[in-house]
Amino acid sequence: MSAGRYDILFEPVVIGPKTAPNRFWQTPHASGFGTEYPDMQAAYRGMKAEGGWGVVFTEATSVASETDKGPYVLGRLWDEGDVRNSRRIVERIHAGGALAGVELEYHSSMSVAAEGRLVAHAVDPVAGEGTLPVAYAGTAATLHVSDIARIQDLHVQAALRAVDAGYDLITLHCGHAASLISHFLIPYYNTRTDAYGGSFENRARFAREILAKVRDAVGDRAAVGLRFGVDTLDAPLGLGDRGMRHDGEAPRVIQYLDDLVDYWDLIIGGVDWGQDAQSSRTARENHEAPYTGGMKQYTSKPVVNVGRLNSPDTMVKVIRSGQADFIGAARAGISDPFLPAKIRDGAIEDIRECIGCNLCVSRANIANGRIVCTQNPTIGEEFRRDWHPEVFDVAGNRDRTVLVVGAGPAGLECAMVLGKRGFDMVHLVDAAEEVGGSLNWITRLPGRQEWRHVVEYRELQLSKLKNVTTILGTRLSADDILDYGAEIVVIATGSHYAADAVSPYDRRPLPFGDSFRGNVVTPEEVMSGAATIGDRVLVWDTDGYFVGPGIAEHLASRGHEVTAVTPASAFGPYLHQTMEDARVTEDLRALDVRIFPSSGLGGATADTVTVDTLAGPVEAGVDTVVVVGQRVTDSDLYRELHDRGAEWEAAGLTRVYRIGDSLRPSFIADAVFSGHRLAREIDSPNPDEPRPYIRERRLLNATDADFTPTGPAQSRAV
Ligand code: SF4
Repeated sequence: MSAGRYDILFEPVVIGPKTAPNRFWQTPHASGFGTEYPDMQAAYRGMKAEGGWGVVFTEATSVASETDKGPYVLGRLWDEGDVRNSRRIVERIHAGGALAGVELEYHSSMSVAAEGRLVAHAVDPVAGEGTLPVAYAGTAATLHVSDIARIQDLHVQAALRAVDAGYDLITLHCGHAASLISHFLIPYYNTRTDAYGGSFENRARFAREILAKVRDAVGDRAAVGLRFGVDTLDAPLGLGDRGMRHDGEAPRVIQYLDDLVDYWDLIIGGVDWGQDAQSSRTARENHEAPYTGGMKQYTSKPVVNVGRLNSPDTMVKVIRSGQADFIGAARAGISDPFLPAKIRDGAIEDIRECIGCNLCVSRANIANGRIVCTQNPTIGEEFRRDWHPEVFDVAGNRDRTVLVVGAGPAGLECAMVLGKRGFDMVHLVDAAEEVGGSLNWITRLPGRQEWRHVVEYRELQLSKLKNVTTILGTRLSADDILDYGAEIVVIATGSHYAADAVSPYDRRPLPFGDSFRGNVVTPEEVMSGAATIGDRVLVWDTDGYFVGPGIAEHLASRGHEVTAVTPASAFGPYLHQTMEDARVTEDLRALDVRIFPSSGLGGATADTVTVDTLAGPVEAGVDTVVVVGQRVTDSDLYRELHDRGAEWEAAGLTRVYRIGDSLRPSFIADAVFSGHRLAREIDSPNPDEPRPYIRERRLLNATDADFTPTGPAQSRAV
């Protein structure tokens, strides 16, 4: 495939007074760094610019203390201190050759304002967004008409600070049915009877006034645009016909405000941003096109589209078809900050494609959650650990032979990075006939097929590394390893679900006596086909994430009658953080899965299980119980090797590490990170201890020594 095929993606585009060097637009998204951690934020955003993104935005940035979302760490442009911190961020983005953008937001009813305890104002005393119930934030004060000029001026002052910090693009947020400007526009929220409510012109008045004031203030020093939610979708996840509709008022909004903007960043979103940032379970590539794709005809200004735009061919189609002028993405750039550079250089197969798991989204939903990524373990570590996603230094102990046992996510990542660090000889050995470990069954769960990219990306990279040999279908014992001749051994043998009820919720054994004639199985046994599954299945879930609901859906869709029981208040509560819970629950109900949250197992007869619900016991006919409980490490090999430490010297063995789930079962992202970190630090001066990382924090009485990588505090003063 010729690199010329993608040339259109690398055309410069004029945006008002600025010119983007290409069509890659990294959209605003939370990182957990805000402006409070400027070094981490600068390194994070700077890496995107280095990776070829022509436009790099930071994140939702509140214009004043009263609209702060704290304790969520997001951007702030309240004062000169925020300007100083922002300058460092902008400088790093500019150093990479990109335009720097900031998204100004007045969060209205979403403003927790935990720090200043000031009161936000809203168009109406509307309830909070779906992701943040009103109880968290309280209800905002209704904006009196006499307050409007003051609120608009807060935006103007923040925009001037943005210019002062060097930002090239200033977006006013008007999407996700969450910001003040969108609330004025949308009849669902705007029930005012004054000059700012009622008719279309009245509801659009606030947007016109604020855009005009911001433009007047910043002049040619920055381009000004609107991030506009063109469709707030159907109820219950959306606002229905009283919301914004792409085939309703949205075209009119664009035409009405077009003279006041330099660009349009078009998105969708109902009662929260989960419809915009849908996971791969429900959203295919370019899934927003039915809503945003026809909007360009209403504007003379450049248009940004988003919606899981992962493939370069789709990107070209989006541009060539006139759907949009810019390829907007957050997750694609988290998973691979160098996506544009790889397309430019014709290295398409080396793109670390986003799997749409939404783990990054879940971190944004957890207050103060620092960004992580299943595919990219270096994300967020640019400053803290000085990790570059594409650059690996040669290991000081590269002449040591390394044996990695286990080719799941942790082992694959570790072997790949060891290979890239130039080790003479790395062997990756697995008992299975294919690499992938637990992902081989996880990716057969409904909607998780795209997670296979975690394996495929690493498999391909390994195939290019001549210093790494992959050996499959070989189960190694401790004797085998001691005879292997490797100087360093890395155990990455994973974990498995225990077939009992041990969990943080419930440490009691399953209350089934000998009379229960059904079988009790684990998720792995279900997905491998090793277990006989009866007609009536009970899924007992204390794991709390996607596996329990995934198993229930898998079995129900094959005709089994499924009952799901969990002591948690929801089935798969972590799916709320990945913003998948509503659709997963809807799909399970469509399959007639009975769900008993906040419930326990009370006992069993030969073919029934008693479910203890808050409303009393319920008898469920059950042939098979699937226990989705605690995962336990498969670390016998590690323990045996350490028990035989006296034999290491004779075997030439110097160190045995363990990584991933064999150390502690956790998210796939944690397994990948664990393998990556060991490979990065395997030549550490003290290999038995993790290397210290830089803690960005305010440090009292700081001295120059504190700023050195080996400074006693390992800290940076702000
Ligand atoms: Fe994509 Fe998952 Fe990484 Fe987010 S965490 S960028 S969804 S791979």
